[in-house]
Amino acid sequence: AIEFRGVVKQFGDNTVLDGLDFTVAKGDRVTLIGPSGSGKTTILRLLMTLEESDGGLIFVDGEPYTHEMRGDKRVARSEKQRGLVRRRVGMVFQQFNLFPNMTVLENIIEAPIHVLGWPKAKAVDKAEHLLELVGLSDKRDARPTQLSGGQQQRVAIARACAMEPDIMLLDEVTSALDPELVADVLGVLRNIAETTDITMLIVTHEMQFAREVSNRVLMFDGGKIIEEADPETIFTSPENERTQEFLRAVL
Ligand code: ATP
Repeated sequence: AIEFRGVVKQFGDNTVLDGLDFTVAKGDRVTLIGPSGSGKTTILRLLMTLEESDGGLIFVDGEPYTHEMRGDKRVARSEKQRGLVRRRVGMVFQQFNLFPNMTVLENIIEAPIHVLGWPKAKAVDKAEHLLELVGLSDKRDARPTQLSGGQQQRVAIARACAMEPDIMLLDEVTSALDPELVADVLGVLRNIAETTDITMLIVTHEMQFAREVSNRVLMFDGGKIIEEADPETIFTSPENERTQEFLRAVL
């Protein structure tokens, strides 16, 4: 499980997260929705330790992540302690961020070999299995530039899965894609959601995506969660007025 307890994040005078509390259970697929600037990406970046929080605590499976309390003092945990948790978190970005000078296969086996210390044969086995899962076995020796955007994103998903994360963070993973390629990426993610118990935290402006992949939707506004429900409920009968307004604008 992921727990945010009173998490605060400021950029200068701008308080982006204002004492945020929420819990994501193991195996949950949670979509974060809300207006631009409401702090959705910041939440994912905190979980990747790409940003540092200014208050509160984040727990992963009950273990404090980046900070812990010592007495009544909030102190940063060491890089080593953070790294042990971060290793269990994978992220896929809007821009696929593949290594351009490596083949598809090399992109996927890089981190399992260098971060997890796997023997090459084991990493290749795993990569080939994942390429099959994302439907790109025939591209294993291609370079990223030889692939379409949708194919590159499927490689990026396979690469994240190769680290066998417990938690997968997906930040606008379909928004750089042509509409006809979105369905393939969604299909791959749906497949992963149905066949694994990876916890997923999804930021997307595509409500169809939220509807198909997630089992819970959190609506953000002003650094807080203002409504949460299952996708069916939130998309058909949202209670909060600001949620209604937001959905009217994006649906
Ligand atoms: P969008 O839907 O547009 O992606 P979001 O809900 O993901 O928005 P964030 O990207 O988390 O929002 O940004 C929240 C706020 O924090 C915005 O006001 C943004 O300008 C600000 N912000 C984010 N990163 C930084 C930074 N590195 N420096 C200063 N301000 C930042």
